[in-house]
Amino acid sequence: MKSEAGVLSSFPSVEIKHFKLRVDPKIPGKLATRLQVELERAYSELGKALGAWPSSKVTVVLYSQGRFYEATGSQHWVGGFYDGQIKLPVPVKSDEKDPAFRKLLKVVRHEYAHLLVLGLSAECPMWLNEGIAQYFEASYQKDAVYARLKESREARIPLKKMPSRLGKIDDVELARWVYLQGLGFVEFLVEKYKPFRLRLLLRAIAEEHSAATAFERVYGRSTEDLEKEWWKRIENPDG
Ligand SMILES: [Zn+2]
Repeated sequence: MKSEAGVLSSFPSVEIKHFKLRVDPKIPGKLATRLQVELERAYSELGKALGAWPSSKVTVVLYSQGRFYEATGSQHWVGGFYDGQIKLPVPVKSDEKDPAFRKLLKVVRHEYAHLLVLGLSAECPMWLNEGIAQYFEASYQKDAVYARLKESREARIPLKKMPSRLGKIDDVELARWVYLQGLGFVEFLVEKYKPFRLRLLLRAIAEEHSAATAFERVYGRSTEDLEKEWWKRIENPDG
């Protein structure tokens, strides 16, 4: 196994408006170009929604899928990640319309959202960070998300008891549920209070060092209170 740095040194760099890319030569030019378009789109759309703009160019590494898992040591189910740089596995045999490639375009938005969230607040609880990142993956998905939450509402975890770090979750079912609750709650916050307030919330978490205090400050209500209304909406979407 080659070291990640060793592999990277053979990747040509490409600079675009807001990103600096390292591109695995195995990736077809068409796919690399489409990913560049998606990155700039994420920059402008998510930037507007969260009022957050990185002060320097963001580094993105486009690996061919095979090389990604080898070079980063990631598990096979990892679809990309952000560790100060955005790292993505590109399915080199697909074309732009393949489901695998379309999924990767969502990962682009997801990982870019993580970059913005962590830039605003390094202490953002994991469930909220994942909720925001999933929210920005795609446009409207609330109905489906609420239906899944309603179906399994017995498993409901109070937000204050949600695990704050991913490393503490070794149960896959639990991890899925935490992600779903995070997404559902962010859908609720955005619908009721608009996305820009997420930015205020993240700044408040950074200042208060407490998510609970930040929720009180930004939404004028306790987490429990917000949560109660949210579950009421899930159980009775037309009510
Ligand atoms: Zn994520």
